[in-house]
Amino acid sequence: MIRIAIQAKGRLNEDSVALLNEAGIEIEPSKRKLLTHALDFPLEVLYLRDDDIPQAVAMGVADIGIVGENEVAEKGEKLEVVHKLGFGKCRISLAIPKGETYDSPSWCNGKGVATSYPNILKKFFAENKIKADIHEIAGSVEIAPSVGMAEGIFDIVSSGGTLITNGLKEVEKVFWSEAVLVANPKLSAENRAILDQLLFRFQSVERSRGMKYMLMNLPCDKVEAAAKIMPGVKSPTILPLQQKGWCSMHVVVGERELWARIEQLKAIGAEDILVLSLEKMIP
Ligand code: ATP
Ligand code: MG
Repeated sequence: MIRIAIQAKGRLNEDSVALLNEAGIEIEPSKRKLLTHALDFPLEVLYLRDDDIPQAVAMGVADIGIVGENEVAEKGEKLEVVHKLGFGKCRISLAIPKGETYDSPSWCNGKGVATSYPNILKKFFAENKIKADIHEIAGSVEIAPSVGMAEGIFDIVSSGGTLITNGLKEVEKVFWSEAVLVANPKLSAENRAILDQLLFRFQSVERSRGMKYMLMNLPCDKVEAAAKIMPGVKSPTILPLQQKGWCSMHVVVGERELWARIEQLKAIGAEDILVLSLEKMIP
């Protein structure tokens, strides 16, 4: 049995649960419990605040976890980053009142900067040889300048809307983050094997995202040309139609290139094109 820590509620919770579900792991819905277990996979789920996940995994309270790289970097715990998960993307930036002129981090010298990420900020100041005060606050960082608590802030930005409503502007993008799967570096061999299974499933889910399954009819003498347009994963599947001289071609294609490919295929005589959603791709 492996134990995974995920965020109890907040921006990473839904995507973390969805990823587990798509990987075929049903979790008991009750979020009131701190600990639940999966119905058909040797996995327990521990619901925590995201700040607590790095330490929980480092201590072995949980074996693995899903958490933002920002928290991993801030907490500085000894963790193995197993895999980037592609959601929860954000950045940590320096922002200052919009009327200020800014040309370099030296703007911060002698000033106060409010943040929930004191360690990442400390590193940024050290790299830029800045001497400034770091005011650590847990939330609502963006109001700090307007209430006179600090001159600038160092906080998570995604769209920038919150900054604008608080009269701030982003002047330095410092740290890029997304959700990652982390593991305790000293997993037992059994748990390492379960982690490998889980990772294999996550990767299969990722691979099938944005992929479509496509079928079409085309004259058999166009198969070569069609396979050049749509090479598929290994190569297209070709089946004969009952009507002489016609074939059915099946192929997996990325959604983004779908329409361009369809136009090319129609131009060489493909007809009756079906595009189906693709649930899983197992290599
Ligand atoms: P908790 O109660 O668990 O401590 P929190 O308030 O600290 O929650 P959330 O706002 O839920 O945190 O964000 C959790 C994580 O999601 C952040 O640490 C970051 O990795 C990521 N994140 C934060 N803001 C955004 C955003 N605007 N867009 C995408 N991901 C974000
Ligand atoms: Mg938090």
